[in-house]
Amino acid sequence: MKETSKIESIVHNLNKLPTLPSVAMRILNAVRNKKTGLKEIGEILATDPALSAEVLKAINSHFYCLPNKITSVPHAVSLLGSHTVKSLALSFSLVNNLRSNESNGFDYFNFWKTSLIGAVSAKILTEKILPNFAEDAFFLGLIHNIGTLAMNQCMPEQYQLVLNETKNNLFLYSDVENRVFGFNHMQLGEHMTKSWGLPESFTTPILHHHGLDDIVIQEPNIDVMTKVLRLSSLFIDLSNHKEKKAATTFAQLEFLAKKYGFKDKLPIDEIAKQIHHQTMNVFPLFNIRVDEDNDYLKIIEDARNELINLSSDFMEQLCEQKKQIENLSKLAMTDSLTNLLNFNAFHECLDKEIHRARRYKHDLCLIMADIDHFKDINDNYGHLAGDHVIKTVAQFFQDFLRTSDSVARYGGEEFAAVLPEISNTNAMLVAERLREAINSMQIEYENKVIPVSLSFGISFLKPNKNVNKIELIKEADSALYQAKGAGRNICKCYDTG
Ligand code: GH3
Ligand code: MG
Ligand code: MG
Repeated sequence: MKETSKIESIVHNLNKLPTLPSVAMRILNAVRNKKTGLKEIGEILATDPALSAEVLKAINSHFYCLPNKITSVPHAVSLLGSHTVKSLALSFSLVNNLRSNESNGFDYFNFWKTSLIGAVSAKILTEKILPNFAEDAFFLGLIHNIGTLAMNQCMPEQYQLVLNETKNNLFLYSDVENRVFGFNHMQLGEHMTKSWGLPESFTTPILHHHGLDDIVIQEPNIDVMTKVLRLSSLFIDLSNHKEKKAATTFAQLEFLAKKYGFKDKLPIDEIAKQIHHQTMNVFPLFNIRVDEDNDYLKIIEDARNELINLSSDFMEQLCEQKKQIENLSKLAMTDSLTNLLNFNAFHECLDKEIHRARRYKHDLCLIMADIDHFKDINDNYGHLAGDHVIKTVAQFFQDFLRTSDSVARYGGEEFAAVLPEISNTNAMLVAERLREAINSMQIEYENKVIPVSLSFGISFLKPNKNVNKIELIKEADSALYQAKGAGRNICKCYDTG
């Protein structure tokens, strides 16, 4: 499934996505317009005295260590450049506007606190590797988890499920989000920041900040920023973890810094110390209370001690294991022959889609399809040929349907697809076209063309019809049974019989 397109179709139903505060919007527009950028930032800030005061306070704090006090925004812009002032102004306007007292267990205070650790980490790392981007990196680090905040604001009840399932650290946030929502906070963050008009040097790192092992990013600066954000998110994890878990994260940081070729520039201990000191300076600026109990330096020291006896081989093994655990939950949802959703994953997906259809009052259609006389295909052409047919049909289903539809291998040679937001008539048309297209395909195996047809059973969920998941499946199954009885290679719809 191409999740990025899927997210577009889902997001337009969310009417409460946080928008960028208008002052932040004006600053971004000004920066984009290079000719007027510098002067305009001063002018925009002049219209917002509270924001100007916060920016000046930050510039005069220990975070910047300037020798002389700066008393006006134009002075700050000329001395530090528009990047610094822009980044600070955007950061303050966002944090101030997106705090909420609503409570569903989501900890806004902790959200911004960890986001600030991300901001400081990204800035420190970037200063060493790509100094011109350091100020942008601060803002990037601050907003990289904005998708999490938005999910919580738009869908507080479901987000509670995510919070519960991730509490014991057994599951990754993004995996649980994918299961509950059909997309994760990285994809939503990318979508939102794109819609705010932020450039790719922001949106791409946000999309990949929890993993980019198999992804090639062509543009070198964006590639570096993505790697920086990946490390920053691990520095955040480090601040939340204790003992053994911290040791694994620490090992992962060392491993990745080496893999990315940053190792010489980034001694992890040293960076961690700097992050600790700098966050202490930055927290008060954003009204974040400094929590003395959660001593970052102590965590690092403990993590180091845990690791002291471990060889670097073992560290690599540790990282490999972590990756394997991450992959396991993905594997558990996928059918290995076809890469489609498996039976269990499909049931979860159908639950979710029914829930969504009810909530947004959409139609929904379920298609069950079964290859005709498949036993004969195995008998006549061999089991491997049979496997080839299943794979080819699976791929065809996937390509033929919309990216927002979900397809599964429901059993041996049986497929199931859920099509949200589609009328009865259109669903029948889609199924009929699919049937016909597969029937006229030339599936070849070892120079022989294997004729293939499928029978289809279709059922519908109507917003006003109180049918549950099991009934919906039974109805599609019974329609499929009728299609088989009526001679095969046809579509039958439950309603019309
Ligand atoms: P019908 O038109 O009524 O569906 O007849 P059919 O022969 O397709 O159905 P039946 O259920 O009798 O046989 C299905 C066969 O599919 C039996 C099973 O051995 C075979 N099968 C199930 N899974 C796989 C698989 O992964 N690969 C291969 N090659 N065959 C499989
Ligand atoms: Mg069959
Ligand atoms: Mg069968």
